[in-house]
Amino acid sequence: MGTYGRPAVALARGAGSRVWDVDGKEYLDLLAGIAVSALGHAHPAVRDAVTAQLSQLGHTSNLYVNEPQVLLAERLVGLLGVDARIFFANSGAEANECAIKITRKTGRTELIATEGSFHGRTLGALSITGQPGKRAPFEPLLPGVTFVPYGDVSALKAAISERTAGVFLEPTLGEAGIIPPPPGYLAAARALCDETGALLVLDEVQSGIGRTGAWFAHQTEGVLPDVLTLAKGLGGGLPIGACVGIGAAGRLLGPGEHGSTFGGGPVVCAAALAVLDTIESEGLLASATRVGERLADGIRAAAASGVPGIAGVRGVGLWLAIELSTGSEAAEAPVTAAAFETAARAAGFLVNGIAPATVRLAPPLVLTDADADAFVAALPGIAAAAVAAGAEAGGPATPGRRVSS
Ligand SMILES: *Cc1c(COP(=O)(O)O)cnc(C)c1O
Repeated sequence: MGTYGRPAVALARGAGSRVWDVDGKEYLDLLAGIAVSALGHAHPAVRDAVTAQLSQLGHTSNLYVNEPQVLLAERLVGLLGVDARIFFANSGAEANECAIKITRKTGRTELIATEGSFHGRTLGALSITGQPGKRAPFEPLLPGVTFVPYGDVSALKAAISERTAGVFLEPTLGEAGIIPPPPGYLAAARALCDETGALLVLDEVQSGIGRTGAWFAHQTEGVLPDVLTLAKGLGGGLPIGACVGIGAAGRLLGPGEHGSTFGGGPVVCAAALAVLDTIESEGLLASATRVGERLADGIRAAAASGVPGIAGVRGVGLWLAIELSTGSEAAEAPVTAAAFETAARAAGFLVNGIAPATVRLAPPLVLTDADADAFVAALPGIAAAAVAAGAEAGGPATPGRRVSS
C-alpha cells in the first residue's frame, strides 16, 4: 500500500553501524532503523541467540510458557529494580494498547496526552497521539482524551482530575523532533498523578534501552511511572513490545483480559536477552553517553564556527537533533531537513529529516568515536550541499518532507 511514499534507498546488507545498498554504496547508519538496531546490524550476539533459539523452539503461543520469555521478564524487572509485571507485545503501538487497557481497569475512562506526542498508529495509540493530521482521517477515535501542551505543568494541573484514568507522556518527545521537557516536568506529572489517583504512563518506546545513556530515560529523572512501555531498541531489530505494570498497576489486567498470539515468543525474547546482555557486557550505556557527547560537541562546534545551515544540537546520549537554520535571519543560510537528509545520503550517511528544520540522529549504541568523528568531519560539506540545493530550489526554506514512523 502507499503508506510510506517511495523510499530513496534499497538496503541490501549491514554490519555493525554500516549498511550497503543494492548498488554496493556504503553508508554510516545514524538512524538504526528508527532507533531500533541497538547493536547495529548482524551483531553476532543477536544472530547466534536467534539461530540457537529457532533451531530449538521457534514458537509456542502463550498457551504454553517458554523460558526466554520468563528470563527476559526477570531481566527487565531487575533493570527497573522494582516490583513489576510485564505483558509482551510485538510493537510500540501494541505496548501502548496494553497500557490504555490497564488505565481502563482503574474504573475511569478519561486520558490525558500531550500535543506533538507520538504513541503509535493503531486506533487506541492514535487516539492519544497529539498530531491532528495523523488522527483526522480516522475519527471518531477513543472518546475522553484531552491534549495538553508538552512540558507545561500548569496545563496538566488544570486538565487532570479524579476522573483521569491515565496520563501518557514521552520523557522527551521523539517523533516530534527530540524535544525535551523543562527540568522537573516528569516529577511534577508524577506528583499530580499521585494527588488525583491517575496512572502515570511513560512511553519509553524510543527513549528506553540505553538510547539516552541510561537503561530508561525516567531513571535519570528519578521518576517512577505506574506503567512503562518499551519496544524499538529492545529486540535489536526483531519485533517486540513490552508493557510494564509497576506495583499495583501490574495487577490490573487479569486472565482473559488481554493477549497476543505472537507476543513474548521465544525467538524475539532470546534476541532481546542478547541485546540486554550485550549492552551490559560491552559497556554500551557509558559508550552511548560518551560517543553521544562527542557527536553533539562536534555539531555544536560546527554551529559555533558558522557552518552554514547548522544552528545547533539538542538531545542526550545517542539521541540527538541537529537544529537547522531556517533562514529567518537575513544572514542565515536556509536549509531544509529534507535537503540535509539527501545531501548526507550522497555523502554516505543515513540521517532522518524528521521536522522541517530538524534532523534526527539515533544511531546504533555500538557507534564508535571514529564513526562520530567521521560524521562531524563531513558535516560542513553536507551542510554546504544542502544549502546549495535549497538555493537552487528557489530561496528561503519551505517545510521539508516530514518523515516519521
Ligand atoms: C515508534 C514509537 C511508537 C510506535 O511504535 P511502533 O513499533 O511503530 O508501533 C510509540 N511510541 C513512541 C514514543 C515511539 O517512538
